Amino acid sequence: MSTYKAEYIWLDGTEPSASLRSKTKIVALGQEPPVWGFDGSSTNQAPGDKSDCVLQPVFVCKDPTRGDDNKLVLCEVLLAKDFGPHPTNTRAALTTVAKRFASAECLFGMEQEYTFFDGAKPLGWPKDGFPGPQGPYYCAIGAGLASGREIVEDHMQACLDAGLAFVGINAEVMPGQWEFQVGAIGPLEMADQLTIARYLLNRIAEDYDVTVSLAAKPVKGDWNGTGCHTNFSTKAMREGYQPIIDACEALGRKASLHIENYGPGIKDRLTGHHETCAWNQFKYGVSDRGASIRIPWHVAKDQKGYLEDRRPNANCDPYVVCRLMMETICGATT
Ligand code: ADP
Ligand code: MN
Ligand code: MN
Ligand code: MN
Repeated sequence: MSTYKAEYIWLDGTEPSASLRSKTKIVALGQEPPVWGFDGSSTNQAPGDKSDCVLQPVFVCKDPTRGDDNKLVLCEVLLAKDFGPHPTNTRAALTTVAKRFASAECLFGMEQEYTFFDGAKPLGWPKDGFPGPQGPYYCAIGAGLASGREIVEDHMQACLDAGLAFVGINAEVMPGQWEFQVGAIGPLEMADQLTIARYLLNRIAEDYDVTVSLAAKPVKGDWNGTGCHTNFSTKAMREGYQPIIDACEALGRKASLHIENYGPGIKDRLTGHHETCAWNQFKYGVSDRGASIRIPWHVAKDQKGYLEDRRPNANCDPYVVCRLMMETICGATT
């Protein structure tokens, strides 16, 4: 009987932010990946005497690392006792909110920044001391300026082969730091596809013996932090300007709620320097990279489009970010 390999992927209970876990099940060709389980006592998701957690497949795509008929199977974690959502399962709440505000036709695009590490140092940094100061590295070409491009290229191709709405990459401001963008797609698609893209990045970097850090401020001092700018629109925002201003105002009224839920270490990153607005301030503006919310210049010119929330950390939970943005913006206008 012929089979395929199903790589079951889920978010664990690591504090303060979840890590990805995965394991393989061999499934008969033609069959959907079934409900499965794992030992939650090894992932900070259950006590040893009640260790079973349930893996409920929610999003399946091609596995570009294995090719052929093999699949990646993103799962929600459920409780064994009643199949309710596990406390670490933030996707379940987004599902509810996505349904509640479906008529707003929300679209998201996330810019995932990350830093490659070679042991204890960012990739490409000298063994002793520091590289030259920031300036030449953003969108750089050339040895000594752009480190890790082979991995970035492999990852981009893998995301495209998996069928994700992957739209671009660039080298970032700090050497060893890069970004990829996914979107614009609906809230559940956004968070699921970002999670798969993060999985593929870690998995592919593994082949190069390089690790991926989503830390908000991986190197202290005069080095950029690492974010996950989240671009957002409703149908109304894509058709007119006032709904974009209304959305900015609504985000301003809930600023601290968002800061508290946009990823651990956010105060170290949102300092008011390095293209950020300080965590305890809120402002929005056209083309302003020192604002909490930026309205891109072409959106102001066209008088319609989307906004960019610049506050989420690289280590944010995309299910939480998408849920909060919908609750705050759609909740204020409907
Ligand atoms: P930046 O100039 O901030 O670096 P990027 O090009 O890196 O911008 O990312 C722009 C993001 O905006 C992409 O993820 C894209 O999918 C998203 N985007 C574009 N149009 C919309 C829209 N109407 N609604 C939501 N997101 C959008
Ligand atoms: Mn970008
Ligand atoms: Mn960036
Ligand atoms: Mn951006």
